[in-house]
Parts: sequence; structure tokens; C-alpha cells
Amino acid sequence: MRTLATLSVLATSVLATVVAMGTASAADCPGHPNALGTSRTLVVDPSEHGLLGGMQYRESLPLQDHEVVLTFDDGPLPPHTTRVLDALAAECVKATFFMVGQMVRGYPSVVRRIYEDGHTIANHSQTHPFTFHKMSVDAAARQVNDGFESLRTVLGEHADAVAPFFRIPGLLRQTSVENYLTQRDVMVWSLDFLADDWTHISSREIINRAISRIEARGRGILLLHDIQPATAAALPEILHELKVRGFRIVQVVPARPDRPKTASTPEQWVVRHTPGIWPTSVPVVGLDESSPLLTAPSPANFGVADTIEAPLDQTLALAPGKVRSGVGDAGLSPLAVWPHGVKLTGLPKAGELPAPAAVNFHYSRVWRPASAGSGQKSTFRSGKAAPPTARNTSANGPKKRADSPAPPAAVPAAHPAGVRPVGHQLSIGKPTVALDTTGSIAR
Ligand SMILES: [Zn+2]
Repeated sequence: MRTLATLSVLATSVLATVVAMGTASAADCPGHPNALGTSRTLVVDPSEHGLLGGMQYRESLPLQDHEVVLTFDDGPLPPHTTRVLDALAAECVKATFFMVGQMVRGYPSVVRRIYEDGHTIANHSQTHPFTFHKMSVDAAARQVNDGFESLRTVLGEHADAVAPFFRIPGLLRQTSVENYLTQRDVMVWSLDFLADDWTHISSREIINRAISRIEARGRGILLLHDIQPATAAALPEILHELKVRGFRIVQVVPARPDRPKTASTPEQWVVRHTPGIWPTSVPVVGLDESSPLLTAPSPANFGVADTIEAPLDQTLALAPGKVRSGVGDAGLSPLAVWPHGVKLTGLPKAGELPAPAAVNFHYSRVWRPASAGSGQKSTFRSGKAAPPTARNTSANGPKKRADSPAPPAAVPAAHPAGVRPVGHQLSIGKPTVALDTTGSIAR
């Protein structure tokens, strides 16, 4: 295997590589002569490349074109993880499992099978909190170290098989936590493409998204979730599609004294030259071309009563036979095939915006309706806010209100049936707070 891996790296022609792969698959997968196989093992040094995955970082694995690394998160969880392991074994494919410590403790036998099947064992925190982007470094360190400890404990004498690879739950990165990890030579894994398989889409959709995104990018790290039944069901066909399309699977393991790193150049790791920390531009999940197509909206959907009588059986031109307007719907022009190419753009530093305070809205006074039986039309004016204790007797207030007992400040007034307070009055006075060009509050 090592020899073949070296051959692959040194191969100067794609043809030579493919020949080597074919031999490897047949030889290394007894009983499965046409297996996809694992084409080579890539040995990486986490102390040299700490942040990995083009979705969030400027570097990813130094893969050749049509090379894919499979990763599975959130397990182990039988029977789904077991089905995933069966599918991988049937094709002699090796993957990396980013496991959650609590799950590891709960299903130690599955962890041992992952090890015995020869997969790479990696850490996905102890309890998978979705707060890694805002927790303290100490709290993150506990999650990281407890996760590693769970894996090592369950693997016992094979504890050294645990790779110093960590994937942050939810990919919720923050620099301080990344620094904590990389300073300890723990490699932080993001990804190059995902298949949205945690969003409860069908197996068919998982296959479509995985394959189309791998095809579009050509190489990289695929994220899947072995705890998802739809993923377990989809995996055999994903592997089949990768095989027929000429993709090769690479296993990644950490360097050790007896296992030197695979030779690579710094340029091979760079996937983009402009640092861009996700999520600066997040594609809307589920709205790409392979998503289920949506029916065009009808005016009735927007509360319009007088819809066009004549049925407009008009088909959206760019996707004939797939996107149809319903009977009675207004037709859309071919240019309006929503939502092709829609992207959400997030604020890169949204966390720096101050939370608004009530004073920012300049509430002048709370409007209260006339009390029951008065029949008075409520009147209210804008103006300077009166002190709360004086608001009902203010000279600016409506005279008639003086006859009505003022409701207690903290208790809502009783309202006649059908009358209810609809809000408060806003007064836009002279601005006292403004955003300057740096985005900070200037007074
Ligand atoms: Zn996860």
C-alpha cells in the first residue's frame, strides 16, 4: 500500500496512476474485483498545516484531480454507522470518522470496528455543542480533550490510532479556538464540499448533491454524517457514481516517527489565494438546480382575491416539464426562474454590531386606548417624553384622559372587547446616536 501510494505521488501521467489504482483495487479487496478501493494513503503533518478545507480556509489537502477524501461526522450510531461501514468495506474504501465523545462512550464496539476496518479515527468534540464560535477557550479545550480522551479510552491498547484531527461542531470556528488547536498540533478539518445530509433530504438528493459538487470542484474533502439513515442508504450509490466517473479515494493519516509525511509542495495545499473566512457568502442550501423544483406562486398566495380567470397553463421556459405554474397562476417570464443562483451574503463581522437598546428607538410614550365605555377616540401626539409618573397628567396629554383612572404601570389596562393596544408611539427626534464609517457607535 505504501509502495503504491508512493507510486501514485510520483506518477507523472494520469494513465500510469490509473493503472496502479486498478491493480490496487483488485489486489486489496478480495472478493470484490471491481471495487472502488482506496487509491493511496496521504500522510500529513498537522504541525505544518493546521487549518484544512476550502470551505473555510485557504488550504486544503494536496490532492490530485479526481481525488476525494471521505469524512463522516457525529457518530457512531448503530445501525446507521454499521451500514456505512458495510458499504465502505464492500468497496474497500477507507474514510475518516470524526466521532462525538458521548457517542463513542455509548457505542464502544462500533468504534472498535471502525478501527479494525482500518479507517482514520478523529475527534468531533465530547458533546457536540453548537457554541464553539462563542465559548471560552477553556470550555473549548475541555470539549476537545474530553473527546480525545473518550476515543483513547475506548480503543485502549490501540489508543495511538487516534489521529490529532478535529472538526469543530457545526463548523462554528473562532480564531482563539483554532489557535488553541493548532498550537497543540491538532489539525482543524473543515471541508471542501458537503451534501446537506443532515437536513433530512432524501437519499437521492444526497447522492445528487454529493456527486454534482464533487464533479464541479474536481477534488477535495466530502462531509457526510454516518448517523443519518438517508446517508447510509445513499452511500453505496455515491461510491458507485464516484467509481464510474473516474474518482479515486484517498485516506489521510497523521505522520508518525515510523510513518513520514507524504512529500508535497506548499502550493499544492493552497485552494484559494484570497483569505475568506466562511460565512462571507453562503449559498442557500436546497435552492440549487438539483433541488426539488417549486411551483410558481399564485396571486392568491399573497391574499389577492381577484385572480385571473383564464387559466394560464404556462410553463417556465428554462425547465420545461419540471416547473409548472398551476391553473390560475400568473405566468412568469423565462427570466424569472427563481431561485437560480441566489446567494445570501452575510456580514463578515456581524458579532461586532452592538445590540440596540430601548433608548435607540426614542419611545416618547406608550399609547393606551381610551378606557372602556368612554367612546373617545384615542389621541396621542408626538413630543418630548414625559416622566412615567406624570404621563397621564401631562399638560400635553388629552384632557379627557384625566377623568379615567390611570392604569397601574405594570398591569395592562382592561380593554373592551375588540379593542386592544396596537403598539407604542415613535417619536423621531434629533439623532443622538449615529454610526460612523468604522461601524462603532459615535455620540
Ligand atoms: Zn457535527
